[in-house]
Amino acid sequence: MHPLTLHRLDLGTDAEPAAALTRVDPRKALLTATDLSATRGDGIFETVVVVDGVPQALEPHLDRFERSAAMLDLPAPRRELWRGAVLAAAEELRRHTPRGAVKFVLSRGDEANTASATGWALGFAPDTRAGDGAPELDVVLLDRGYRHDVAQTSPWLLQGAKTLSYAVNMAALREARRRGAHDVIFTSIDGFVLEGPHSTVVARVDGVYVTPPTDLGLLPGTTQADVFAALTGWGEAVATRRVDVAELRDADAVWLCSSTRGAAPVRSLDGAAVVVDAEVTASLNEALDARKA
Ligand code: PLP
Repeated sequence: MHPLTLHRLDLGTDAEPAAALTRVDPRKALLTATDLSATRGDGIFETVVVVDGVPQALEPHLDRFERSAAMLDLPAPRRELWRGAVLAAAEELRRHTPRGAVKFVLSRGDEANTASATGWALGFAPDTRAGDGAPELDVVLLDRGYRHDVAQTSPWLLQGAKTLSYAVNMAALREARRRGAHDVIFTSIDGFVLEGPHSTVVARVDGVYVTPPTDLGLLPGTTQADVFAALTGWGEAVATRRVDVAELRDADAVWLCSSTRGAAPVRSLDGAAVVVDAEVTASLNEALDARKA
């Protein structure tokens, strides 16, 4: 990633967004060494793609940010402030790149000064860009080690919240590379398809586009939601339901959907070839690129 813009948010004020945002140098230090985001991964984030200065699916990202904050007992984000921060970053990004992204972060704060949470919005140019043509992915299935009902039995594990604690997800991606693959689909210990470390799974099973439900402890994917909206608009059948591993291996086609990469087609699962539907992939990414906030 190439950092391009950075705004610090003053979370302790009711001031208008413009007055609560401070523009800072994206290459300079922003945090203390005792910030809980750094010392414990204790916070939440979102990454929004910006096409020609327009943040895509901004409101669904803000919805999910609020949902994550509630799951972590963080102070409820002041929506207009966070929206203002993303819009300010997006406006600046327009001058640098036709396709950028804004990562906005809410940390529980500084553990040496428990007074207030910390927030910032970083505008950057991502390394992988859906508009460059979606990459075809070799994917491995990895056991997440939880049952499909972990979100109900053990909510303190925060499955389904977009927390800053991504070390496990990054370790899974390294395991994929060790196995000669690009990416991962997590499965539950009892055989259900979950999600990728940074993506939502969409599969076409017997002509129906399916995605697993979020009550399996999954992030509600903003890209998957817009993929389903596009498919529905074209008269295709979609369903949100449990998918077991055998069904995934037999699927007609599989995609990993995420903000930064769009709908990326899977070309192999654990080394077995999966058919890539290039036509549907291209149409989906065109529809995603045409989104508005
Ligand atoms: N699931 C996980 C665990 C993720 O980290 C992400 C995105 O980073 C997604 C799904 C896809 O979400 P979105 O399409 O909103 O980017």
